Amino acid sequence: MKSDAFTRSRRVLRVVSALIALQLFPSAADLVSPPFRSGLPSSVQAASAPARGRDYYEARGDIVWEVPMAEKLIALTFDDGPDPEETPPILDLLNQYQAKATFFVLGRKVDQYPELAAREVLEGHEIANHTYTHRYFNRPITQELLSSEIKRTDEAVLRATGRKPVLFRPPGGYYGQAVVDGAKRAGCKTVLWSWHQDTEDWNRPGTEKIIRKVLTNARNGDIILFHDHVEGKSQTLAALQRILPELSKRGYRFVTVSELLTHKESKTVGH
Ligand SMILES: [Zn+2]
Repeated sequence: MKSDAFTRSRRVLRVVSALIALQLFPSAADLVSPPFRSGLPSSVQAASAPARGRDYYEARGDIVWEVPMAEKLIALTFDDGPDPEETPPILDLLNQYQAKATFFVLGRKVDQYPELAAREVLEGHEIANHTYTHRYFNRPITQELLSSEIKRTDEAVLRATGRKPVLFRPPGGYYGQAVVDGAKRAGCKTVLWSWHQDTEDWNRPGTEKIIRKVLTNARNGDIILFHDHVEGKSQTLAALQRILPELSKRGYRFVTVSELLTHKESKTVGH
């Protein structure tokens, strides 16, 4: 489901980009920008990425990709759960390494499995918002729809855990001013992931490939993208079983994205 949806959405993105190039869309700047994954063809980036790319949003502090810092901290993030098969063993493994992670949950699944969301919070992890239905914002959408996707998820998390998420990650990484503003109105900061730490585990590239990607690229302040729900047999747990001990050995500590952001702020104040 996910990989198909993602491929489809990339195709849609190309069509939209072509339409922008032909000036059939009135306001390219208001369109949600592409995810800037490293694998995206440069023609797509050039056609549909106007002035408002990563630099613009990062400079304003509106979107976070990573938090460069002197401390050896890394944020592990897991999207698309909670899942009754995949989430519990990941939680068990995180506990073994005193690792705190951030779970970008779907509201729909939190309503289905509130006890898993409650466990995540109980064990010191952060729960963040990833929309209610995993909707892609890769075309113009109404503020009502965006707000409803965020609000329904916030409410589901609040019911299950007593906490309100403060971070939002748009599915597929499709961002733009509308997404940033919608998240802000709901009291959330938009968080993506380090470009060099997109494990693509949702596409099941092979356990070794996931491990190599993370271990080769690991640096302070990284936000690593994993999924605790994958269509088919997930390779994520097996990869984590090798990644966690190795990064621990290198001296890294695993913290929530909110904690990572705190370090950035304290460093800024210090200067
Ligand atoms: Zn997702």
